[in-house]
Amino acid sequence: MEKDLMLEMFQKPASSPEEDRARLDAVRGCIYGGAVGDALGYPVEFMYEGEIFDRFGRQGITEYDKDYWTGKALISDDTQMTLFTANGILAGDTYQAMKDVEVLPRYAVARAYLDWLMTQESSMQEVSRHQRNTKDGGYSWLLDVPELYSRRAPGNTCLSAMMQEKNGESFEDYVKAKRNNSKGCGGIMRVAPIALYYQMDMDQLDMEGAQLAAITHGNSLGYMPAAVLVHVINRIVFPPKGEKQSLKEIVLEARDTAARIFAGDPQLDLLTEIIDYAVMLSENDAEDLENIHKLGEGWVGEETLGIALYCALKYQNDFSAGIIAAVNHSGDSDSTGAVTGNILGALLGYQAIEDKWKKDLELSDVILEIADDISDGCPMNYYGHYQDEDWTMKYIYMHRTEE
Ligand SMILES: [Mg+2]
Repeated sequence: MEKDLMLEMFQKPASSPEEDRARLDAVRGCIYGGAVGDALGYPVEFMYEGEIFDRFGRQGITEYDKDYWTGKALISDDTQMTLFTANGILAGDTYQAMKDVEVLPRYAVARAYLDWLMTQESSMQEVSRHQRNTKDGGYSWLLDVPELYSRRAPGNTCLSAMMQEKNGESFEDYVKAKRNNSKGCGGIMRVAPIALYYQMDMDQLDMEGAQLAAITHGNSLGYMPAAVLVHVINRIVFPPKGEKQSLKEIVLEARDTAARIFAGDPQLDLLTEIIDYAVMLSENDAEDLENIHKLGEGWVGEETLGIALYCALKYQNDFSAGIIAAVNHSGDSDSTGAVTGNILGALLGYQAIEDKWKKDLELSDVILEIADDISDGCPMNYYGHYQDEDWTMKYIYMHRTEE
């Protein structure tokens, strides 16, 4: 990436207080909405449709099925990794701002995923402060959050890819490197935060979104859908001045951008076809389940994108209806719920998410804290004298600040 483009990438254009408030609501909505869809779908991730409807009735699951022991609606690996994505972006950008050197998001995020791997392999006690200062990890304040030390059906590809990364198999360009041939949805399900942080050249942003997915998923259908999602969310949260685009227009623009930046990829047609199909199905009168069956089950990247785009386009004024449609099928319910929640949350805002989804969501406070930090951005830089103690603790010393 060229130096001048990198600098542009980290400059935040001036905005009015109203624009700031709207953006905060959209950023919170995107990250929180993703967690809500994830938590709604997680209990039925491995259930067939028949089982879901037998257990929850003809409408399927429409309320949180809370954990018996904690009384909470549990988030899964989708949200855990989304939080680490955000933490990585923020730590990388803070390092860049304070040292005046370039840090590409993919490098900082790959380090944060090493921390996520530790939460999946070790207990919090084992991850001592000493260990956190070694090269094996310690890049995220999220390591101070006890609830994250929990395996919530993490994807094998994410685990094995990060074990390779931990063993030194790291790349400058993850898209080119193609670490493996997986096209699972573990890439797309966690990339939303990058779309909320940067205002920059869209081709570059989409490609960096693909890079974040390609840290673990080397098949192009594992990372191209992530680029499309990042484009859609970025356009929603940072609308071009003086231009009002509909969600459908944004989706088609994202498709065309992907077609350009991934030109020559032999699987590109599969990606653009499923986007077109999702748009078309969202405009018919058929049952959601029937339409979703035509798009697949969501275990792989392009199907997760297709189902999420379908649900978001169809229910673009109703967050609850969108995530309920997104999780009630035999496929990967938590990931299709999470990505649908990301898009609809960005589009409608945090305030439009019904209170019932905000009650008893696991780690609700941490999710909002990360969202607010993504919205604020690093308040300090190399040239300035301003010191922010909380920010320094979280994104330079990588420790949770005490309340
Ligand atoms: Mg999951």
